[in-house]
Amino acid sequence: MSTQGTGFNTRAIHAGQAFEPRTGAVVPPVHFSTTYAQDGIGGLRNGYEYGRGTNPTRDSLQEQLAAVENGTHAFTFASGLAAEDSLIRALMRPGDHIVLGNDAYGGTYRLISRIFGDWGIGNTPVDMADPQALAAAIAAAQTRLVWLETPSNPMMKITDIAAVAKATHDAGALLVVDNTFATPYLQQPLDLGADIVVHSTTKYIGGHSDVVGGAVIVKDADLAEKIGFLQFAAGAVNGPMDAFLTTRGLKTLGVRMDRHSENAQKVAEWLQGRPEVEKVLYPGLPDHPGHELAKKQMKRFGGMVSVQFTGGEAAARTIAESTRVFTLAESLGGIESLMNYPSEMTHASVKGTELAVPENLLRLSCGIEDAEDLIADLEQAFTRL
Ligand SMILES: *Cc1c(COP(=O)(O)O)cnc(C)c1O
Repeated sequence: MSTQGTGFNTRAIHAGQAFEPRTGAVVPPVHFSTTYAQDGIGGLRNGYEYGRGTNPTRDSLQEQLAAVENGTHAFTFASGLAAEDSLIRALMRPGDHIVLGNDAYGGTYRLISRIFGDWGIGNTPVDMADPQALAAAIAAAQTRLVWLETPSNPMMKITDIAAVAKATHDAGALLVVDNTFATPYLQQPLDLGADIVVHSTTKYIGGHSDVVGGAVIVKDADLAEKIGFLQFAAGAVNGPMDAFLTTRGLKTLGVRMDRHSENAQKVAEWLQGRPEVEKVLYPGLPDHPGHELAKKQMKRFGGMVSVQFTGGEAAARTIAESTRVFTLAESLGGIESLMNYPSEMTHASVKGTELAVPENLLRLSCGIEDAEDLIADLEQAFTRL
């Protein structure tokens, strides 16, 4: 069916998911074949030639992703960082510059500074919420890309996508939004002026902590051509089974995000009332500095909550090692609740840099279990303090 003009959940379930014509199988089969028979030399069937370039299962995920982000083209990769790597190589050349948020995902900063730095691409981390600092950083070099995460990881800072898009375009650069935390269900950056969306589909889109992947989505044919060429020519593609699992996850994204958001709100409100807690960072709390902006640019506030403890690093470590429903682990966005100590785990690579995170901070990925059980788990962990 055509999903043009339909709601988010209808697009998530049906875009790119036409039933199989021979049998009517409602779920399209997973295509493992690496190559395709040709009807005479060069006689390709529907353009299918070789698995690195095209695969029907990957195509179906790409169509689904383009539809939910309101883009025209999507490209999927073996991981979020593989997607970022291909995107940067498709659009940047030695001498170009990238301006990124000073609380960007640690792995993104490592890729940009430690890999691309050696290939002649400069970077400036900046406070994205400070328009003067942003404009100055963009103007100070040959800025080609501006890289924004909102909400940011793990500080949960909210940035005005439309305002950053305007500042970026005024300088002739392109805006990339990493939409991993918000997901297309809660926030659609291309509609707010961004040129490119990237995802670690490993997180909410896959949603079940069982598949690593990444995606780039655009709304412009010229950008699509450049990124599509890198996907094909550099070949960091996802395999068919990974594409299938990601598609299956994406179909239920809307219902999961509603529950993640409800649970996170309850957990954040409970944490805020506790004497052991110095600060709760969650945009759904009315006293969060980004609350009004988040209400405007997001449908709900998402499943991620960060919390800082009055007892410092020791308290954060004790809680991290005392929960039973929340599992101490890297990553986020799965149906099961996870807890992470960013300073030593996800953000260990930015320790000692401008992007370092507070040592009394824990990041909670609130899953879709029963909220009462999540709170009871935190309550029993708090008795260890
Ligand atoms: C995990 C993550 C990435 C990197 O994605 P991988 O799939 O781990 O390569 C990029 N951005 C954000 C915000 C992430 O959380």
